[in-house]
Amino acid sequence: MATVVCLGAAGTVTGSNYLIETASGRRFLVDCGMFQGSKRIETRNWLEWDFDPSQIETLILTHAHIDHSGRIPKLVKDGFRGQIITSRATADLCNIMLRDSAHVQEMDAEWQTRKNQRKGKQAIQPLYTMADAEESLSYLAPVNENTVISLNDEVRFRLRDAGHILGSSIIELWITEGDSEIKIVFSGDLGRENQLIVKDPADVGHADYLFVESTYGDRLHKTFEDSKQELLEAIRYALSHEEKVIIPAFALERTQEILYLLGEFSRESLLPDIPIYLDSPLAIKATEIFRRHKDYYDREARAIVNKGFDPFDMPNLHFTAATEESMAINKKPGSAIIVAASGMCTAGRIKHHLKHNLWRDGASIIIVGYQAAGTTGRQIVDGADHVRIFGENVAVRAKVFTIGGFSAHADQTGLLGWVGNFVNESQPRVFVVHGEKTASETLAKEIKQRHKLDARPPRWRETLILKPRKDVSVETQAVDAAADVDAAADVDAAVADTIAGMEQELNRLKTYVQEKQRAGTLTEGDIEQLRAVWEDIEAITGSRAASAE
Ligand SMILES: [Zn+2]
Ligand SMILES: [Zn+2]
Repeated sequence: MATVVCLGAAGTVTGSNYLIETASGRRFLVDCGMFQGSKRIETRNWLEWDFDPSQIETLILTHAHIDHSGRIPKLVKDGFRGQIITSRATADLCNIMLRDSAHVQEMDAEWQTRKNQRKGKQAIQPLYTMADAEESLSYLAPVNENTVISLNDEVRFRLRDAGHILGSSIIELWITEGDSEIKIVFSGDLGRENQLIVKDPADVGHADYLFVESTYGDRLHKTFEDSKQELLEAIRYALSHEEKVIIPAFALERTQEILYLLGEFSRESLLPDIPIYLDSPLAIKATEIFRRHKDYYDREARAIVNKGFDPFDMPNLHFTAATEESMAINKKPGSAIIVAASGMCTAGRIKHHLKHNLWRDGASIIIVGYQAAGTTGRQIVDGADHVRIFGENVAVRAKVFTIGGFSAHADQTGLLGWVGNFVNESQPRVFVVHGEKTASETLAKEIKQRHKLDARPPRWRETLILKPRKDVSVETQAVDAAADVDAAADVDAAVADTIAGMEQELNRLKTYVQEKQRAGTLTEGDIEQLRAVWEDIEAITGSRAASAE
């Protein structure tokens, strides 16, 4: 029987990573992403793998975002020598994203090492180096979408448009086992219908087992048209005061969407004659890749190209790759639009632009992306009157515009609609992943209620046994019937029983940990596993603070 072990993006948004093993023992991965957000979550990146990387034949990658691809260089460093199968655009984007990530890892380690050395402590090794990232790129094996491809004699797969970012894919997998076959579908990150640039998510419609993302499983987005108008208003505000417009944006996709909209405004003569700067080396490189992959554009973007325009260009647009060019921007008086990374204002050139403009009456700060708790961007959104930038307290006098409608993820309605396509076709069993606990649980509940499908969020490190279809429906029914009987029994007694059982286990756990500690055999993995259980309990009691994307 095939199994899927949920090694990331289970109970969290980030760290997407699934280990799939066929009945005959062939092993491959879907995604190999970085855990991002709180410190506690990020320690998971440093854990030993739950498998031997050298035994993995293939990695199928849904898209280039770091929470899906960011641990690939570590996988290669630790022995993986298989193929990394993905779309052509994703392969190109990985080329810049993984190098950038390696650079960040090296910088972090250097900074930490300097800090440690001042305290007489040891040097820190980076999670992986530029050399690891560069080696991992040699394993990229891009394939065409919409074509069924055999991985080996047991496994076939097909990439379909996920409509999330350039080159993003849904993965369809068929695993044969003797006379039977199961079909597993991973949604990857699912985009919105009518999103800019990329095509709509494909209606897959058939699966035995479905893994669906749930980033916004408990939320609805504002309409895109409203957001576009808000963007225009926010730009006009700063222009009327002859001040600057500062737009912090993620280098990949959000930046290109903003350029696309500015291009549209420009063609419709809605923008006056002012300079527009794309001030992020990574975003500049990503934009070049977007320009090369026109075959991934949707009909509207292709129509712009067919009329002889570049959707990411406009008069007065300047790409400022060099540091001196970047520094010159704030020396020039008068209005300008500045798009820079990082998207949450925690690093990169955006910090300089905020330092120069945040305190200026009449300037616009336009927040167009998700801001995790604890970031400078979040403080600005939450209305702080001062924020700390480069060790200075900078007053927030500029007008802050928060525009929520540019998400590259489907909202609850979008996700339910996409899952709904499977209902009449195949009644799959649904695993709700890639979401914070509440978002995943809310979506699972909605899927159960509206679509009458069996749906639940799997736990981190949980092994799911995926039996051929007929067995599953029989077993599911049997379990459901038993559950009904249980439900009729005395609920209070069951609750008391469970709590008493947990207390007993907690005492045993204490002894177990103390013994291991004494013997010196307590590993980082043990501690991380305990923390995961702790997080689960906190999630039930509601005492857990939401961690970042
Ligand atoms: Zn993504
Ligand atoms: Zn993601």
